[in-house]
Amino acid sequence: MAGLYVHIPFCTSFCIYCDFYSEVAPERVDAYLEALSREAASRKSELSVPPTTLYVGGGTPSLLSERQFSRLSEILRKNFDLQAVEEFTVEANPDDITPEKLALWRSCGVNRLSIGVQSFCDAHLKWMRRRHDSAAAARAFRMAREAGFRNISLDLIFGYAGLSMREWEASVEKALSLGPEHISCYQMMLEEGTPLTLLAEAGKYIEPPQEECAAQYSLLQQRLSEAGYVQYEISNFALPGFESRHNSAYWRREPYLGLGPAAHSFDGARHRSWNDPDLEAWLAAWNPASESRRAGSFEILSDKDVFNETVMLSLRTARGLDLAELDPTLLAEARPAFDAAIASGNLVRTPSGRLRIPSDRFFISDFAITEEILI
Ligand code: SF4
Repeated sequence: MAGLYVHIPFCTSFCIYCDFYSEVAPERVDAYLEALSREAASRKSELSVPPTTLYVGGGTPSLLSERQFSRLSEILRKNFDLQAVEEFTVEANPDDITPEKLALWRSCGVNRLSIGVQSFCDAHLKWMRRRHDSAAAARAFRMAREAGFRNISLDLIFGYAGLSMREWEASVEKALSLGPEHISCYQMMLEEGTPLTLLAEAGKYIEPPQEECAAQYSLLQQRLSEAGYVQYEISNFALPGFESRHNSAYWRREPYLGLGPAAHSFDGARHRSWNDPDLEAWLAAWNPASESRRAGSFEILSDKDVFNETVMLSLRTARGLDLAELDPTLLAEARPAFDAAIASGNLVRTPSGRLRIPSDRFFISDFAITEEILI
């Protein structure tokens, strides 16, 4: 298994909470695509097997015009053997979705859409500085269905000030009424440098209490479970068989190649590398006249890093952690912490003998459970 990720570092405007790397620079998209072509040609050999998943994320991939997306598809087809690709995802914002783009994506082999809905409450969408309203999100979803997409994921956000339980429930119900195959839900966080964090620093935004966020998360889990969705990761729910293969491979530490500014790559063992989140530096590095290649860095993971990564990534998932995957010497060191977590119920055994965090403790997992086990 291997994944290929392409980061499209462009947005039409910035949302209040977002710290993903992107620029508002539509005039740079064509130059980006030509540099991407050179990066793909130069780095394709880093994937030792043909990719089984493709993921075009961002930023906002859906803002590419039809001509630009066709060029992107051509770059991928020219440089990679795509015959083994099982899942080809494109992230899309509702306001960009048109029948023409949907038809083009389908003709390029895209078989999964991840639509950034975030909320079905218009006042909240406006506050988040999203460009669509709830009617546009529902329209975009239906258009995607009509265009033949049979694997659609919706993103929702909870845990921000002003979101009542009633409003949250209404958004969850509206999402369910559309019948997506997959739902991703994230808690709004104060990320460094975002407009929301600046507001918080100026005393103009106060995060809601954690108990309120936990109650919203719990409601989400309950409603989605009742509707037949399986929670296979802290933030991800799918109808059986529709788990994201690309993202699941990240959690299983399988290899992937990331192209574009801010994209990360991993060889499936110890070598992690990344492109700097800097469009102009990346364009300069892949300029034909440039002697340097890649504006970024890498790290070689130590035994300890591998241990900690394996624990952290596996325990994000319902599949859980197989202790046999861990270095035995380091496992011996961590054994008391594992035993304590099992004794307290923070870890339980799955039917296949792996260890996992029970669903009702997923919400506290990042802080209270995994941290104690890391060495
Ligand atoms: S949430 Fe999406 S559209 Fe909004 S700024 Fe971030 S990447 Fe861009």
